[in-house]
Amino acid sequence: MALRQLARAQPLLARPILAPRSAIVAPRLAASFTSTPRRSDVPPQAYQTPPGQGPIPPNGTKVKPGFFARTGKFFRTFGRVTLVVVLTTTGAFLYVTQTQNSPPNQLPADKEKPTLVVLGSGWGATSFLKSLDTEEFNVVVISPRNYFLFTPLLPSVTVGTLEPRSIIQPTRYITRHKKRKVDVYEAEAQEVDPVKKTVTFQDLSDIRGAAGSVTIPYDYLVYAVGCENQTFGIKGVTEHACFLKELSDADKIRTKLMDCIETAAFRDQPQDEIDRLMHMVVVGGGPTGVEYAGELHDFLIDDLKKWYPEVADRLRITLIEALPNVLPAFSKQLIQYTESTFAENKIDVLTRTMVKDVKNTSVVVQDANKQMREIPYGLLVWATGNTSRQITRDLMNKLSAVQTQRRGLLVDDYLSLLGGEGVYAIGDCTATSYAPTAQVASQQGIYLAGIFQKLGQKAKLERQLAQLRAATNASPEEIEATVKKLNRAAKLTPFHYSHQGSLAYIGSEKAIADLPLFNGNVASGGGAAMLFWRSAYISTLYSVRNRTLVLADWLKVKIFGRDVSRE
Ligand code: FAD
Ligand code: MG
Repeated sequence: MALRQLARAQPLLARPILAPRSAIVAPRLAASFTSTPRRSDVPPQAYQTPPGQGPIPPNGTKVKPGFFARTGKFFRTFGRVTLVVVLTTTGAFLYVTQTQNSPPNQLPADKEKPTLVVLGSGWGATSFLKSLDTEEFNVVVISPRNYFLFTPLLPSVTVGTLEPRSIIQPTRYITRHKKRKVDVYEAEAQEVDPVKKTVTFQDLSDIRGAAGSVTIPYDYLVYAVGCENQTFGIKGVTEHACFLKELSDADKIRTKLMDCIETAAFRDQPQDEIDRLMHMVVVGGGPTGVEYAGELHDFLIDDLKKWYPEVADRLRITLIEALPNVLPAFSKQLIQYTESTFAENKIDVLTRTMVKDVKNTSVVVQDANKQMREIPYGLLVWATGNTSRQITRDLMNKLSAVQTQRRGLLVDDYLSLLGGEGVYAIGDCTATSYAPTAQVASQQGIYLAGIFQKLGQKAKLERQLAQLRAATNASPEEIEATVKKLNRAAKLTPFHYSHQGSLAYIGSEKAIADLPLFNGNVASGGGAAMLFWRSAYISTLYSVRNRTLVLADWLKVKIFGRDVSRE
């Protein structure tokens, strides 16, 4: 309002008939506002004034620009820069999203090219597919899951901080952008025959056609089926506990958690039953168990206290770990930091405690003093690590002369499966010196795409060489140059893992980060590490679509809180 009044006053103030002081003030104000004065109202010299400089008053002395002129100039420049930034960012965003959303035409399958079968659509398989040049191969992808799941953010889905679809990317969004057509089958591979070089797979989803089981031959196989949950053969785990590996697991946990809370709030519920229903037990003190406990604590503080005041204070979280401490892969000070944060947040950590039996409503444990006791629970989340899938165990048995590790498949330095010609194995299904992490699986996938790039180049150069040798007019120099290129393409460097650091969210807006820096290690915990955790995951999410959805979810939760309705 005040600005508008001043703007209206501006032509008047600019009149030269005013007293000398006003004559100085007026042009300053004139320079401060963008509304243009009427030409008839402004003295001729005001139009000659260079922009941003004070006008030359009648006596000829130059006037320094005043406060309004300077701030006005600043805001004008700021406004222009902001406009340019907003327009460029919006343009880039629209360009990237539209390009991702409009897949190009692809080359058709070529019978002359070798068949490359990829098993899985997780970290290993997806990073491989993303980096792979498909021109020299007919690629077939087989996975029971038709999407890639960004597992590091899965614990956030269990309490509704993130929506499930924000952290997945359909596999076809990836394969449809490849040069040559890629066949994608939502099916489970059931058998790999490394001698006949075939894969047998079947649609095991709810809706199945008449096709049944299919067997196809492969020239190359990339084996990236991951692992399944380790239960150590403990009775009752599969029946009563919830795992946290797949998207459906996170959904199930969210539903069961809300069921426990609603049931605890039910009229005339006995006190000990409320305590049981509100007791959430997590088995496994690795990053998954710790992150889940942290998310659950946030849910309690931010939302449950508001919407379920009658039972929220009864919520207890217990983390059970067989080892002497949680997060064995992190540095000592971060372990202590996590344990003290958990103590502050009233999350009980039972270390050196082994689960012996899992019942419907309680878990039997042996504590550090070798005492057995029963802990009642409402929800039990099982996050104790990995074991090989049945199909992997079958493959090991077929190659038992060389596949001697129960932990997983043995590969050489080039990720080629021992005993399996044309077979490469990456990710959690392998037994290497690296931890079973997304970081390792994705680096292996990228490395393997490089190996296939070289295989493709080699095939191309071999064809060229055969043509040159058959041609009568090819010069010896041309042949020699092609042979040199061929030798270069045949040279492979072994896989090398580069550790980028470890991160985990521990609740109440705190994270821990172990980062390799300057040949050493930097350990950090707290709010700054949490910002780093967020930005690291935002930048590693698969697509712009995922990044936008996750950012929107975080914002949504900040504004409206988490949704406590049960689907
Ligand atoms: P997966 O990603 O598990 O993929 C296996 C694929 O094979 C899936 O698509 C599956 O559907 C498919 N498949 C299964 N059976 C068959 C079959 N019979 N035939 C064909 N396909 C099949 N790692 C980190 O580095 N940082 C983290 O912060 C982190 N957080 C995690 C949080 C959670 C909750 C979990 C569960 C894991 C986390 N990990 C993290 C570990 C990481 O997710 C795994 O190491 C990684 O997924 C391994 O990649 P992969 O490709 O070997 O297996
Ligand atoms: Mg089906």
